[in-house]
Amino acid sequence: MSEQLFEDVACTVCACVCDDLRVTVRDGRIVDYQPFCSRIGNWFEQQNSQPFPAALQSGAEVAFEQAIDQAATILRQSRSPLFYGLSRSSTEGQRAAVALADRLGATIDTTASEGHAPSILALQQVGESTCSLGEIRNRADLVIYWGSDPIQWQPRHLERYSMKAGMLTPGGRADRTLIVVDSKRTETADLADHYLEVEKDQDFEALWTLRGLLRGVEPRPGSRTGLPLDQLRDLAQRMKTCRCGIIFFGYGLVLQPMGNNNVQALLQLVTELNQYTRFYARRMRVAGDVSGADSVLCWQTGYPFSVNLARGYPRYSPDEFSAADMLERRETDAVVLIGSSRLDCFSPAALDHLQRVPTILLEHPFGEISFEPTVRITTAIYGIHRPGTAYRMDEVPIPLRPLLPSEFPSDGEVLNAIHAALSTRS
Ligand code: SF4
Repeated sequence: MSEQLFEDVACTVCACVCDDLRVTVRDGRIVDYQPFCSRIGNWFEQQNSQPFPAALQSGAEVAFEQAIDQAATILRQSRSPLFYGLSRSSTEGQRAAVALADRLGATIDTTASEGHAPSILALQQVGESTCSLGEIRNRADLVIYWGSDPIQWQPRHLERYSMKAGMLTPGGRADRTLIVVDSKRTETADLADHYLEVEKDQDFEALWTLRGLLRGVEPRPGSRTGLPLDQLRDLAQRMKTCRCGIIFFGYGLVLQPMGNNNVQALLQLVTELNQYTRFYARRMRVAGDVSGADSVLCWQTGYPFSVNLARGYPRYSPDEFSAADMLERRETDAVVLIGSSRLDCFSPAALDHLQRVPTILLEHPFGEISFEPTVRITTAIYGIHRPGTAYRMDEVPIPLRPLLPSEFPSDGEVLNAIHAALSTRS
């Protein structure tokens, strides 16, 4: 019996990308991991699951080479291919996807377009005051989660950053004030010193009132303020007088009608707070490497998501080139899915078109999808079977190490094989 203990393993289940796990591998199987995290579920156990076909074509098992040929044929015949996904990939796979999309003059989009796209639009307008999560651990004495429930989506975020003892916060939780602003009570709210229940879809009013209060401007009587005025006055005072503050904001703020205006107001508020003290804002990303997908697309094309390469140069237009919009308007005739995350966010019209056109799915063995893709190729997982790099939610790159061998190729290797097939057989 052989047993190996891997220390400082990075987890890519969520965008925290915690890199402090200890994973025990016995006889080629993962048998334990520490410390526990509720979001991991059976992620590690699934790696020991039954063998899965290397490739399927219309549901029937085929050789890998045949699947690559079929994928190349689909893409060669396509006039408007679309690449979508990438948030469960790694830098290598994301680069390979951009290179292939560029070769084909395709559109490439990431799951950010179904998530923090409004935040990205807002920060492109007004900028953002950013920091690493390590800086929060070491400095922040005021931590605000706005429209975000890390206990559910990023369970170890509080333990590792917002409550952990740091250089200027040796008492950890005791040295911090934790505030949750949300429209419904969450598990995170139960741990907070103060929970402020903002009226549904009135975050903008609350943020705008806070901006005024910072300058000493009171709202007119009867104005909508989203939160009771005395709570907003108290919050403004706490923000101004803290040593270092942070607002972590999530989908509860972002995925509202005109969510980009909410985020813009929040980012402007944080910028103005820096006249009084040190203050930051950070997005609470959800998927494992969605920040990496933003970063790779940015350095390769100049834009973070929804990029069209059909004219030989990148064009960025979120409403026009998001995967969901292109599918709804039936403007694509072949789709490459690099992972199947967030397909459940698509409208029925988008899903309907997705099932009508040829689809090539690159997915790990137990990734689930509600329809049968034309070609499905099983891929290895970065950080389990392959080395790679994932970007944490604060855009810090974290190296991923392999723990188990795998006969499956990585998504980057599959994309490179399709690229080569297009080049040699065109
Ligand atoms: S918080 Fe996220 S990255 Fe960290 S261990 Fe849990 S699932 Fe993994």
